[in-house]
Parts: sequence; C-alpha cells; structure tokens
Amino acid sequence: MQDPFGRDVSYLRVSVTDRCDFRCVYCMAEDMTFLPKKDVLSLEELDRLCGAFVRLGVRKLRLTGGEPLVRRNIMWLINRLGEHLKSGDLDELTVTTNGSQLEKLADQLYAAGMRRINVSLDTLNEEKFVAITRWGKYDKVMAGLDAADRAGLKVKINAVALKGVNDDELDHMVEWCGKRGYDLTFIEVMPMGDMGEHQRVDQYLPLSMVRAELQKNWTLEDIDYNTGGPARYVRVKETGHRIGFITPMTHNFCESCNRVRLTCTGTLFMCLGQDDAADLREPLRASESDELLQQAILEAIDRKPKGHDFIIDRRSDKPAVGRHMSVTGG
Ligand code: SAM
Ligand code: SF4
Repeated sequence: MQDPFGRDVSYLRVSVTDRCDFRCVYCMAEDMTFLPKKDVLSLEELDRLCGAFVRLGVRKLRLTGGEPLVRRNIMWLINRLGEHLKSGDLDELTVTTNGSQLEKLADQLYAAGMRRINVSLDTLNEEKFVAITRWGKYDKVMAGLDAADRAGLKVKINAVALKGVNDDELDHMVEWCGKRGYDLTFIEVMPMGDMGEHQRVDQYLPLSMVRAELQKNWTLEDIDYNTGGPARYVRVKETGHRIGFITPMTHNFCESCNRVRLTCTGTLFMCLGQDDAADLREPLRASESDELLQQAILEAIDRKPKGHDFIIDRRSDKPAVGRHMSVTGG
C-alpha cells in the first residue's frame, strides 16, 4: 500500500483495548471513562481486520493500548496473528506493554513467535514509579522483565522524559539498560488528551537537553539505524547498546512514516497527530467477505496526511489532539 506521498505503509499498530491497569500521569486522568464494551471490536474481529491488512502488504504488527496484555484472552489473538509469521506473510509481531503481565505471559509471547517487545518504564526508583503510574507495582514489572529475559524476548525500554521527575536518573537508566542488554528509547511528552490537574508544559523536557546531559558522561556515536519510525538512534560506546530519541515536538519525522494506527473500535488513524480517521468497523460488519473492508482501508491510506503539527506552549495548554494516547496506543 502506498500513500499519496509515495510512502509504503507496511506497519500497523493496533490498540486492542483502551483500558489499563496503570494511570500514568502523562497518559490518563485517574478517573478515566473508558469505551463501552459493546463499541469495542471482538478479538475475532480484530483478527479479521489484521488479516486484511496483512493481505494488503502490512509486514509488521504491534499490539498496544491501553495495556494490551490486560485484555481478556489476548493470547488467543496473539496466537492467531502468530500464524502469519509462520506462513511468512508477516515479518514481525510485537507488543508495547507496561510489563505488569509479563511474568505470566512472557513464555507464551515467545511461543507465539514474538521475539522483541517494548516495555515502558520511566524510572528505576520505586517511589517515583508509583508517583508516575499511580497504580503500578514496581516489583511486578521487574519480575516481568526477568521473565522476558528468561523467555528469550529482546526488550527495548521506552522512557518518557519528564522534567523534574526522571531527569536526574538518565545516566543510571543508560547504565542499567547497558547491563541488562536492553536498548533504550526516550520519548518527549506529547500533547494528547486532557490530563486533569497535570499541566503538560510542566512535564515537557526537550530531548535535546537529555542528549546534552548524557553526552557529559557517555560517548554517543551517531548510527544509521532506522526502523522507519520517529526515533533517531545513537550507540553508547561504553555499553554497546542503542539509545533512541523520539522527538515529535522538536523534530519532523513524518517523511519516512510507514505506519497507521487502528483503535479497538475499528477506527483507523492515518497520523498520530491528526484527527482525520476512517471507520473500518462498519465495512467489517457489513459483510462476511473482506471486499468492502479492503476498499475502505485503501481509501483511508489514500488520505494519509503529509505530517502533524504538535504545539505545546504556555499560552495554550490545550492538547493538539483531543484523544488520549491510550486510544491510539502511541
Ligand atoms: N500500556 C502500554 C505501555 O505503557 O507501554 C502501551 C500503551 S502506552 C499509551 C504506549 C507508550 O505511549 C508508552 O511508552 C507511554 O509511555 C507513551 N505515552 C503515553 N502518553 C504519552 C504522552 N502524552 N506523550 C508521550 N508518550 C506517551
Ligand atoms: Fe497505561 Fe501505558 Fe498509558 Fe501508562 S502509558 S496509563 S501503562 S496505557
């Protein structure tokens, strides 16, 4: 599938639920209202939708959320999607998770064909972890990471850079990831969804500053590693591991964008930072054949916008995009 700007769309991210067992301060308000269950696609419908994308040329699938691994019976879907790996129609099946269920599921993920996972962890300090995630259990996530290591899953840590929160432990995180054999990606806070009492401008820490700080203690070598996504990578000479920087606020990464995002209600967002979307639930439910669905997908890809336009500034602390990150899964 090619969009109007000649970009190949080969990567689908699927938010399988908007629910989560954490309430990270930059992602959700504590008293979130979630989607009514009846609006959420069944696992069978998600399987059918993903299958249609794979037939149209998607080579990489990432499950996200909300917390994808808290959806009931999620392993059924993951095992089904794993069949596309076996047939050679899919190159990679992966997940972005907060790690809370990994202790239980890591082995099953590996058995389904997953080889790499992203685990979100913003701090190595238990107190801060509780302050950031509100409901998270630090020990559980650590046990989950151990289980992922044992299962043979390659882990990449995602950390949101938060001013005044984790900016004093960046070096420690680099060192810890180096020791555990993990790559690490820093993410800037994006203006998505209303956060209740938490003001975004207060959390925003530009990654140019993170990088400058890290350079005081580590040798960061620019490398040509590119996953087609927004991260720019360096290699830490001392640990041999990569650090990625995802800088939607200060860097335009849209030229190489290869992805689209599906929500758990079957809405397809062609750009994380734009509101335009296509409803795939109706064509999915309208007939048992996939013809209408395929047509709707191709029409949507034809509307993929050139790029996004995020702004965080002090005059307007309004989100650039009204939906929360947990709707599209980041
Ligand atoms: N629950 C899973 C997790 O936390 O990994 C998957 C969904 S979560 C929405 C995906 C990623 O988005 C996480 O790494 C999270 O830190 C990040 N995220 C959430 N809200 C964000 C925001 N406003 N700005 C930047 N990153 C955000
Ligand atoms: Fe849940 Fe992930 Fe959002 Fe945290 S970032 S509240 S773990 S969806």
